[in-house]
Amino acid sequence: MVKQLSHTVKRPGRLLGDPDVEIPVAEDLASVPGVPQNPVDVAFYSREYPLETQTIEKSADRQWALATQSKDFDEFREGHDEPHEADVRGCAGFRRGRAYGDARARRGPHGRHPTAGARDGLRRGGIHPVRSALHFAGKKRWAKYEHAICLALEQDYVGTQTGPSPESDIARFETYEVEQELCLKMCDYLRSRGYHAQVHDGSDCSGPYIPLFVAAGLGQLGANGQLLSPHFGSRSRLMLVTTDAPLTYDKPVDYGIHKFCQQCQVCVNRCPGRAIPRDKVWWRGVERNKLIYDRCRPVMVTYHGCAVCMIVCPIQRYGMKPVMEHYVGTGEVLGKGSENLEGYSLKGKGYFGAGELPQFSRDFFEIPQGREEDWLFEKFKERLNATGVPSESELVDFANDVMEVLEKGETTFDVA
Ligand code: SF4
Ligand code: SF4
Repeated sequence: MVKQLSHTVKRPGRLLGDPDVEIPVAEDLASVPGVPQNPVDVAFYSREYPLETQTIEKSADRQWALATQSKDFDEFREGHDEPHEADVRGCAGFRRGRAYGDARARRGPHGRHPTAGARDGLRRGGIHPVRSALHFAGKKRWAKYEHAICLALEQDYVGTQTGPSPESDIARFETYEVEQELCLKMCDYLRSRGYHAQVHDGSDCSGPYIPLFVAAGLGQLGANGQLLSPHFGSRSRLMLVTTDAPLTYDKPVDYGIHKFCQQCQVCVNRCPGRAIPRDKVWWRGVERNKLIYDRCRPVMVTYHGCAVCMIVCPIQRYGMKPVMEHYVGTGEVLGKGSENLEGYSLKGKGYFGAGELPQFSRDFFEIPQGREEDWLFEKFKERLNATGVPSESELVDFANDVMEVLEKGETTFDVA
């Protein structure tokens, strides 16, 4: 059924020099630019119940994840993690970080507004102010400057479609590596103009990045919890540069994604962990599909980062323009129900075509819960209940384990 048109979104082409693309948005998909939200609720929750990063709030599953994830890439990961750790340390304020944010500002004439240079450097970039609601509680001091330059860098198409697989894992890590170099160059550029700048790495985020990207008009939030951008959907990796350079802010856009996801639901139907709820809820003042962490995490860790929800998304596979044109012309979701879009394999489980899902035992989803120190106490309580007061040496071991966690503090460098 042909749909009435609400509006058309015009965005720059995929590569520098490509013509602009025009994305039609059907009348029944029109909602609001960005994401529906209640600013009063957003402010209340961020003040009274500040968000914390998963790498701190869910630190109990970190050691489990490191022990469980594929060992095929240990060497590759080590080479990958080292430079990223330097960026994380830079943000956290350790002086040996490469992206340390307090480089001394140079004085001199700024012939060109830095936004122009930023846009030349980051074709897929958007610019937005950093608000305190967008920092994780444990990392409030990380973002030292008020403006965020958002970079969504496209991940290799072919490698990604093979996922979950070693190839899709490599595609993910390689994108971060290229992106990191781009961000460091951006910082060099801004510093050469006399400003401060720092990189916020994608491997240990200083806040929830996606709201910034949505607010800068680079896409909208999909039901899969990812940024759906016009050219490659969620097949991208996100990093930030924050700076005190005076920049012109971009604006959020209504691409029709907020309502399209309710029509599409492919990721909801195909998620191996059944982790994506079918309906949106109001969560912390924002209307969205709220992922169930405990159903996703074991699948992600066991199967190369999973990302089935990225791979089966028609916006990722075909691009937003063809998908939205198809919807306006037919009222249908391009590729939905086809093997081409919906089929995937899981190592050791086999192939799952459209309509088929893998089964997992209940044990599969039983992973350590909450913070590492809290989990140690939980286990200790279970031990007391089961066998009574432990021996002195066991008590000392327990105290040492807790001490080790406390001494480690809120570091998140060995993140799985
Ligand atoms: S990563 Fe996998 S398990 Fe997690 S939400 Fe996506 S499809 Fe589901
Ligand atoms: S698969 Fe469909 S429902 Fe899921 S994020 Fe993509 S467009 Fe939205």
